Amino acid sequence: MDRQLRVTIWNENRHEQHNPAVASIYPQGIHGAIAALLTDQVQDGRFIRFATLDEPEHGLTVDVLEQTDVLIWWGHAAHGEVENYVVDREQQRVLQGMGLIVLHSGHHSKIFRKLMGTTCNLKWRNAGEKERLWVVTPGHPIATGVGEFVELPHEEMYGEHFDIPEPDELVFLSWFEGGEVFRSGCCYYRGAGKIFYFRPGHETYPTYHHPEIGQIISNAVSWAAPIQRELPQYQHTPPLEPIGAKQP
Ligand code: ZN
Repeated sequence: MDRQLRVTIWNENRHEQHNPAVASIYPQGIHGAIAALLTDQVQDGRFIRFATLDEPEHGLTVDVLEQTDVLIWWGHAAHGEVENYVVDREQQRVLQGMGLIVLHSGHHSKIFRKLMGTTCNLKWRNAGEKERLWVVTPGHPIATGVGEFVELPHEEMYGEHFDIPEPDELVFLSWFEGGEVFRSGCCYYRGAGKIFYFRPGHETYPTYHHPEIGQIISNAVSWAAPIQRELPQYQHTPPLEPIGAKQP
């Protein structure tokens, strides 16, 4: 892409306001920490903006979404407060080619469930246990620069079964100290758009200060970026050749 990639980081931004423990880990908000991770990975070439739940239209106006190549989504406690017309707007942009990266508890966001068509339910336990994310597709661009696995010393557990459609590509599989496993890096294609679900990121752990997590999210932004191509035309279509003209 010749021009700067335009990334919008959307954050519910409620835990940071109400939970001092979260505010101390993320004084600039989870969105601010993710922006810092992305800036550490790529010095320029990306334009980053923020949008949060309590802004008018949740910060996702028609103009903002039109000017977004990749939308990153972190939400947890207030999925139900996201207006359906904004969700419809996001879905349309994904189908037109906007990339979407859904993080952690965003598995239950309206936009992810709408795009998946399933409940996206899972098992969970917040016991601060170790998570090990194994790379299961070593040639995938989202695994660029990542070792065989990434370890997070303390995270919330998400366990199978995760009620999602079969991922088009699975990049990471997590193991947890308590015994569960989880499909933690899932790629989907919907319309012209690309979606990456990435599991880690519970608000009471410093996961979004971890450089390898930053590398993965940054890789995902590059992967999910729209390609330069005209969209297909869905319409009644005349034949390209005269039909039946070559018959003797
Ligand atoms: Zn969580």
